[in-house]
Amino acid sequence: MDPIIVIGTGLAGFNLVKELRKLDQDTPVIMLTADDGRNYSKPMLSTGFTKEKGADELAMGGPEQTASTFNATLRTGVTVTAIDRDAKQVVLGDERLTYSKLVLACGADVFRPPMEGDGMDAVYTVNDLMDYARFREAAAGKKTVLVVGGGLIGCEFANDLTNGGYKVHVVEPVGRCLPTFLPEPASVAVSSALGKLGVVFHFGPFAQRVDRHGDGVRVTLSDHSTVDVDIVLSAVGLRPRIGLAKDAGLDTGRGVKVDRFLRSSDPDIYALGDCAEVNGHVLLYVLPLMSAARALAKTLAGEDTAVSYGVMPVTIKTPACPVVCVPPPQDVAGDWEFEVDGHHVKALFRDTDGQLRGYALTGDACGEKMKLNKELPALF
Ligand SMILES: Cc1cc2nc3c(=O)[nH]c(=O)nc-3n(C[C@H](O)[C@H](O)[C@H](O)COP(=O)(O)OP(=O)(O)OC[C@H]3O[C@@H](n4cnc5c(N)ncnc54)[C@H](O)[C@@H]3O)c2cc1C
Repeated sequence: MDPIIVIGTGLAGFNLVKELRKLDQDTPVIMLTADDGRNYSKPMLSTGFTKEKGADELAMGGPEQTASTFNATLRTGVTVTAIDRDAKQVVLGDERLTYSKLVLACGADVFRPPMEGDGMDAVYTVNDLMDYARFREAAAGKKTVLVVGGGLIGCEFANDLTNGGYKVHVVEPVGRCLPTFLPEPASVAVSSALGKLGVVFHFGPFAQRVDRHGDGVRVTLSDHSTVDVDIVLSAVGLRPRIGLAKDAGLDTGRGVKVDRFLRSSDPDIYALGDCAEVNGHVLLYVLPLMSAARALAKTLAGEDTAVSYGVMPVTIKTPACPVVCVPPPQDVAGDWEFEVDGHHVKALFRDTDGQLRGYALTGDACGEKMKLNKELPALF
């Protein structure tokens, strides 16, 4: 029997195979990854300075361990270059592997903002454990970091690096932090709490140039101001990896389009995790991929199962000002109402019928999460 082939050993690929093995121990499974295949929890990458954990300490197991636990073949350092749907094969350069079912769990790519200058080799991104190892090595012994982007990953790293003893600058072109997650009073609560820790925010301009300057770099912003730091961490956003699927003629939107059975426009190819657009939703978080992994495992084991997303709160790991939020759907009209007490903010978004459709909680208000989750309608 041809194996199930899974492209990706991140949380999506790993949890899918884990769930599948609870139901089916025998169907051959091949997992392929371009990275070193170590098992790690990606959200932990923005907590490592606080916990004083380098890449090796964050790794929970090697590829051999995953392979033997899951009775799977796991191949590391291999890049799938194409999918031949007619032959039901994946192409790895000169090699081809035949699949019975193919699962895309290939994640998202970091978006690199257009910056120039002779100091670009001091600009790092962290989107996997290997990136993290490189960044930790570069940051060792350094004192100041400029973070490009004040979104989820930028703010989490700003808090974590500050806890690790670094002086941190954050550049965010939108006039406040976490703009895609939070309404203004909640953004202000987070940036002022981080500011009290010593984080310096540059709201408004974008980072334009990075040039060598002494032992570090000089970053020039679009308002012509400059910031001198040792290294730069770019955390501007992620884009689902859809290249393989698109080249193979599968339907793609922002992600690889799949239905509630995680099935793409080819019935033998599935997708989940950061690369997938599930029933119209692209959610680059762990909770949705766990629900998807459980449902898809059942389907692959022979019991067709649709995923339900329920309510998907996002927890932002800024311990200086904890945040949990459910951003309201973009196409829903309504209004925010606020209760603000210092950096404790309770923001509720109600639609024109008065139904709760989203919320943002900071500080002590985070305790209301469970109660509000019960009031929210499921995504689908
Ligand atoms: C710093 C940081 C903090 C985060 N914090 C949180 C959080 O607190 N809560 C939360 O819910 N989410 C958080 N996230 C998001 C969450 O980590 C991701 O949604 C999740 O890890 C995505 O898993 P994935 O398996 O879909 O993708 P990935 O982990 O990116 O895995 C992709 C896999 O595909 C492989 N691959 C890709 N292309 C190919 C190819 N062509 N050939 C072979 N292999 C290929 C890669 O090598 C890799 O193994 C955070 C993300 C980051 C970066």
